[in-house]
This record gives sequence, C-alpha cells and structure tokens, in this order.
Amino acid sequence: MKDVVTSLGLNTVTSGAFGKSAIVLSGNPVLAVSSPIDRKSLAQVPCADEASYHRVVDESVEVFREWRKVPAPVRGDMVRQIGNAIRDSKHALGKLVSVETGKILAEGEGEVQEAIDIADFAVGLSRQLYGNVMQSERKNHRMYEQWHPLGPIGVITAFNFPVAVWAWNAMIAAVCGDTVIWKPSEWAPLSALAVNSICREVAKSSGFEGVFSLVIDDGPSLGKLMAADRRIPCVSATGSCVMGRSVASVVGERLGRCILELGGNNATIVMPDADMNLVIRGVLFGAVGTAGQRCTTIRRAFVHADIYEEFLSRLKAAYAQVRIGDPLVNGTLMGPLINERAVEGYKAAIARVAQEGGEIAHGGQVISGLPSPLYVEPTIVRASKVIPLMVEETFAPILYVVPVKSVDEAIALNNAVPQGLSSSMFTRNMQSMEQFLSASGSDCGIANVNMGTSGAEIGGAFGGEKDTGGGRESGSDSWKQYMRRQTCNINYGDDLPLAQGVVFS
Ligand code: NAD
Repeated sequence: MKDVVTSLGLNTVTSGAFGKSAIVLSGNPVLAVSSPIDRKSLAQVPCADEASYHRVVDESVEVFREWRKVPAPVRGDMVRQIGNAIRDSKHALGKLVSVETGKILAEGEGEVQEAIDIADFAVGLSRQLYGNVMQSERKNHRMYEQWHPLGPIGVITAFNFPVAVWAWNAMIAAVCGDTVIWKPSEWAPLSALAVNSICREVAKSSGFEGVFSLVIDDGPSLGKLMAADRRIPCVSATGSCVMGRSVASVVGERLGRCILELGGNNATIVMPDADMNLVIRGVLFGAVGTAGQRCTTIRRAFVHADIYEEFLSRLKAAYAQVRIGDPLVNGTLMGPLINERAVEGYKAAIARVAQEGGEIAHGGQVISGLPSPLYVEPTIVRASKVIPLMVEETFAPILYVVPVKSVDEAIALNNAVPQGLSSSMFTRNMQSMEQFLSASGSDCGIANVNMGTSGAEIGGAFGGEKDTGGGRESGSDSWKQYMRRQTCNINYGDDLPLAQGVVFS
C-alpha cells in the first residue's frame, strides 16, 4: 500500500505548510498517517505551525493581487492544464484516496474523476462569469453589474471526500480569480498533499504557483485560525454540524462570508408502485457505498406498508452478498470505517437500537479477523415507528426502515430531522413524484426520483438546508459565492437626473 505513497513522492514531505515558497519546518508536531485498511503506517507529515500559517496567508494575499488581473479565460487555461494533469494521475490518486480513507478503488477513482469533471466545468465557466445589464430609469444612463474576484478562499475539508470537495471549491475559485488556502482533514492529509502538489506544479509554469496553498494540521487549530482571519473573505467549510456551527459563528462575528456543507440525515421514500429492482440497487449503493460515510448516505427508508416486508427481505438478501474487506481488491463493495472513533459511534448507535424499540434485521457487529479493527457489518434496523436515533447522523452504514401509509406521511417524516441535505423517492406515479418535488414536498437541497440520495453530478449546485448549513458548491451558479458583485451606473449625458425623480436644487 505504501507503494502509492512513495510513487507520488509523499514519503519525503518536509513541511506541513505549502505556500508560495517552500517552508521547511522542524520541531513541529508530526501527523502519523496510517491506512484504515490495515492500520499500517503510510507516512509522517509535519504539521504547519501558527507562524507558517500566517506566512502562507500573507503570500496568498500577495499572489491574489496579481492573479485577479489575469483575464479569466487565461485563468481557465491554467485550470484546463490542471484537469489534464490530474487525469494523467487518476489511477495513482484514486488508489491513494482508497488507501487513506478505506473507500473501494472504484469510488476512489470516481472521486478523482469528479475533480477532473469540475476542472472541465470551470474551464468553460471562465468564459461565462456573466453579469446583467439593467434598464436605467434615468436618461443617458447605463446600469450593469459585474463580478470581481473576492480574495483568498479558505477551504476546510472533511475526511470522506479528500479530493472532490476541495476541487469543487478550488477549481471554481481559481477561474474566478481567487487564491485558495486549504486546511484538509487530519485523517486524509496525503490525498491533499498529492493533489495540491499537482496544482502547484502546473501553476508554477504560469508563474502563479501560490494560487494553491495548503496547511496541514493534526486537528482543527488552523481551521479555527482561518475562520477568524480577516485576510480570508470567504471560508468554505465541509464537515459535521458541530464544526459548522463553530466556523459560522466565528466568521459571522467578523461579518465574513461562509459556505457551509455540513452533516446530512438523508431519507428515501419507497412507494408501492416503485420498480423494486431499481429500489434494491439504489438503496444498497446509497446506504452501503463508502461504508455509509457519505454526507449523502441513505440513513432512513420510509417504505409503504404494502411492500414493507418484501422490501426488507429483498434488501437483506442483497446485504448478505456485500463483500466486505480490502477495498483495493476487485469485488469488494465495502471497506473499513475511517478510525476507531467511527467504530465507537457505530457500536454506540447499535447498542441503543433495542432500547429505543428498534430491531436489528441484518448486521450490527464489528467484524473480527480482518486486517484492522475498523470493519463493521452494514446494518438494517427495522422499526415500526421513528426512533430517537434516527434524528441523528451516525456516520456509519446503519439504515433504519420504517413503514408508512401515504405520501404525505412519508414526506413529513423525510422533513422531520434537523438536517436537510439529500432525499429521494422511488415511484412510477406522477402525482407522488410531483408531490415530493413540490414546494410542500422534500425540504432538502437535493431531491432525486428513482435513485438513491448519493452520487451527485458536478453540474448541479450541491448542498443542503437547515443544519446542513445552506451552502451550495460545484455547478450551476455556485461560482457567484467566490466573487463580489459590483453594480455600476454610468452617466453619459450632460445633466444629473436623480433616481426616483428626486429634485435637489
Ligand atoms: P469534522 O467536522 O470532524 O471535520 C471536518 C474538518 O473541519 C476537518 O478538517 C477538521 O479539522 C475541521 N474542524 C473541526 N472543527 C473545527 C473548528 N471548530 N473550526 C475549524 N475547523 C474545524 O468532520 P469529518 O468527521 O471529517 O467528516 C464527516 C462529517 O462531514 C459528516 O457530518 C458529514 O456529513 C460531513 N460532510 C458533509 C458534506 C457536505 O457536502 N454536506 C461532505 C462531506 C462530509
């Protein structure tokens, strides 16, 4: 496993801070990185200290002053080259993501593909950062809006998508004329190092290496500094709701801008007219994929009472076929959880199931005899009604299945949690579908029909409502958050008419 770390040159890391100029540190804490697959050591990464963090931000501000003047399509060309460089390393990067996070190889490579896709999207976007032209009410006046670069963007990321989520931010921010300072998860620093090095190498040839910088930490300290840092006008933070509350309050205190991508507690609704083959495949991928460690993982299923038993028995049969083990081996569908804390979270939830009136229908055990103690059984819980556990996000493969009698009831239960990220409904009935998608339907940022809740494409805006934080990243017009809007009024006449017809003479 260490071969991929060595092949990407990550075993010789001498600094935890990667700003415009290399900073070699000594005496800083060292982050010991091991793989959840077998808990063997992968690398020792020195952390950045506070002084080097400040140097990196100063440099990012300095680079921004020049980068913002580069024409956007030229910025786009640099991002095009970055996308190609990531494409060239797709397999190695995908394997590194798998080794570091424990997700299966297909998902590791899929994540890198997502970074490539958003780079492609950003290249096109670099010629489309459009503003509107408005009709002025004043004679011989012109009014329009334009979008300017914002400044250094702080990006704090979670462990579970160590490449894609950063890329959603970084590729868009770069074409918008911003610089990017990345504080990755302490559980996935190597993927960050690898992809950031690729970006810096490409950017160096354009003289703008410092557009992308990275500060590695063994915990949240540098993220907290970032939140409070007035040099950073926008902080994009992905992670738990607890983290988001902290970042939002600190950034809010200084009236900065926040993009929050926080926890999800996603439900799927299964109606009696649904195509059961689609349902079982969709729910299996949505609940078991990435070992239940996606923000968009299906955690709750509201299944019409008429098909509840059939659904459970077919899903249990599908779960029984899931191969659990080394995620690098072909045919494995589920690897380990990220760390011991995640396993403790899984065990704590399982212990509460019976107390709260649920029943384990499948799984529920930590698996022994595998190369690390981080493998757990994907679990199905049957419950005749909603139990308190279902309101929380347990970041593990636990699916709660509850019978419902109507679309109204299912939608109400879908919405009855603090989080509002993703949702889905399986149906072939047009009325049920439209009800789910209507203004009084799902309250989530994402609403899918005849598929699960996970696996978003980059073209749409990604994010959720309520405790998920309200942020939107990736496609559509998410780019506007990385720029500042300026409304311009030009008088090309000889008079000075005032708006609203005000006379002041
Ligand atoms: P986490 O909240 O523990 O950590 C995320 C990042 O925030 C890390 O880099 C961490 O060092 C940093 N951090 C923690 N506390 C901080 C603070 N007070 N100030 C600044 N930075 C701080 O999350 P995790 O365990 O890495 O990831 C799992 C969580 O992330 C789940 O809740 C999941 O739903 C969520 N997530 C959401 C999305 C989304 O797009 N909505 C995507 C991926 C993950």
